[in-house]
Amino acid sequence: MAAEPPVTDCDVLICGLGPVGDLLALLLGQRGVSVVGIDAAPEPYELPRAAVVDDEVLRIYQWAGILDQILAESQVQDEVSFVPRHGRRLTLMEPDGTLQGQHGLVSIHQPTMEQTMIEAARKQSTVDLRWGVRLLDFRQENELVRARVEDESGEQRELTARWMVGADGGTSWVRQLLGIEFSGSTFRQRWLVVDVALDRPLDRVKHPHFFGDPERPVVCLPMSPGRHRWEWMVHPGEDVEPMIDPESIRRRLEPWLGEETAEVERAVVYTFHHRVAERWREGRVLLAGDAAHLTPPFAGQGFSSGARDATNLAWKLEAVLSGAPAALMDSYEAERRPHVEAMIRLAVTMGKFIQTSNSRVAVGRDLLLRTLEVTGINHWGRQRVKPLPAYGDGAFAETPAGLVFKRIVGSQFPQPEVVDTKGCRIKLDGLTGLDWTALTSEPEVADAFGSQGIRSLLAGRDFEDPDKTISDWLIDHESAWVLLRPDQFIYACGATLEEVKPATDQLRRDLGRAFPTG
Ligand SMILES: Cc1cc2nc3c(=O)[nH]c(=O)nc-3n(C[C@H](O)[C@H](O)[C@H](O)COP(=O)(O)OP(=O)(O)OC[C@H]3O[C@@H](n4cnc5c(N)ncnc54)[C@H](O)[C@@H]3O)c2cc1C
Repeated sequence: MAAEPPVTDCDVLICGLGPVGDLLALLLGQRGVSVVGIDAAPEPYELPRAAVVDDEVLRIYQWAGILDQILAESQVQDEVSFVPRHGRRLTLMEPDGTLQGQHGLVSIHQPTMEQTMIEAARKQSTVDLRWGVRLLDFRQENELVRARVEDESGEQRELTARWMVGADGGTSWVRQLLGIEFSGSTFRQRWLVVDVALDRPLDRVKHPHFFGDPERPVVCLPMSPGRHRWEWMVHPGEDVEPMIDPESIRRRLEPWLGEETAEVERAVVYTFHHRVAERWREGRVLLAGDAAHLTPPFAGQGFSSGARDATNLAWKLEAVLSGAPAALMDSYEAERRPHVEAMIRLAVTMGKFIQTSNSRVAVGRDLLLRTLEVTGINHWGRQRVKPLPAYGDGAFAETPAGLVFKRIVGSQFPQPEVVDTKGCRIKLDGLTGLDWTALTSEPEVADAFGSQGIRSLLAGRDFEDPDKTISDWLIDHESAWVLLRPDQFIYACGATLEEVKPATDQLRRDLGRAFPTG
């Protein structure tokens, strides 16, 4: 018999309640995991940082049950433009969220978005969020984490947990206590970021724009309704004090404004970093979000990457708490690190591309972009700039090489609309839920999964596929079935009935006592 787990204050202690900690608390709470979340600050951070989130984050919000609230406070962005120094505007990206069944990109107000997550997390009976509580130190022993925390009155106490997640931002104290290196470098350029409340949408810039004037590159984009952001590059050695003076900001904004009335909410100079922690797990302590990785914001992927971390962690933590081998948690970094590094490379490339102050390089860049647009070559690239949600190594079944080559196993399954048994058109994830699910159009395969204790959804019986998205996907990928993880990544797929048992046998080994029971 397996030994009883130690008695602790909670299953998971989350240190840091920025957006990543908030989301993780919510997702764990939905899974019935007991969570204590602490944050050193007296209240949630009230100034905006992230300006946009992508389709993958919106799909996560759909699972978290807060998509409608988030969208009500967002603006959909169908295009990202680049304006060269001379000549007309070019389309840089057309974010396409079809794969995820969501908008490709929306602009947001981070504090409002965090508030929505916090309120939803607080509704979960197993979640306890506490602000004004700082982590001082911790130690790991006997399958638990003992954390020493201090509240605002200076009173110290111990909190015990079976796992701890450091979601405590770029300067992560958890990471420092573990002595984990944060390798990478500081991005050469500083940027002045100005957030403005507007009485109406800015007429001159209706969607995100990069202005590639080598004398002073500018990023300009709408945020949530009634808000707009400008970012001006600061030259090396330039004194920033005069730049953040209210009068100088007023002058800077003037040429952009017409009828609009603008109120500056904040102006701050950021130096961006790209860094990745050398390890994301030490025993029962994990790092997530900015604590594990930092990226310049040009691809809008800082929080979006942290949201993927939270989703990856949530189902795995629930599984290990329910008896899966603790080694499952190693797949977290194995899956997430290469994806994060790809996002950072994209952001750094975009940053270099935008912020060149060399006129000749800028002319070459503008010429290249113009040629790509005129020849139509960039039409393909515009929708596919962002790395796909697909992992190489990780918690996936061993698969024939061809399927790996085609990036089937380890990639995220699309989210088309289907028709449920009541005749309602719904998004696929509404049917699969947050659990292991096999999808097939063959009754014998569905029965085979059922006999192994795994829930299956059979086309024609459990749902209709009116647009043939799922059946076409299976045909295109030479598969008769797919087995989806709770985060909708493909754990295994196969062309035959005979391949079902080896896949479920491996899942039984991977999940141990947490193997789903149907
Ligand atoms: C200018 C700018 C633009 C950006 N634009 C985008 C964008 O468009 N899209 C995007 O996805 N991302 C963007 N980002 C990045 C995004 O804002 C961050 O990635 C995100 O806020 C990180 O969230 P987090 O929860 O990991 O960390 P944080 O938000 O930093 O939260 C960490 C929390 O930990 C707490 N904490 C620290 N130490 C302790 C301790 N010892 N005990 C207890 N609590 C502690 C802190 O008080 C804090 O609340 C941008 C960032 C900047 C600066």
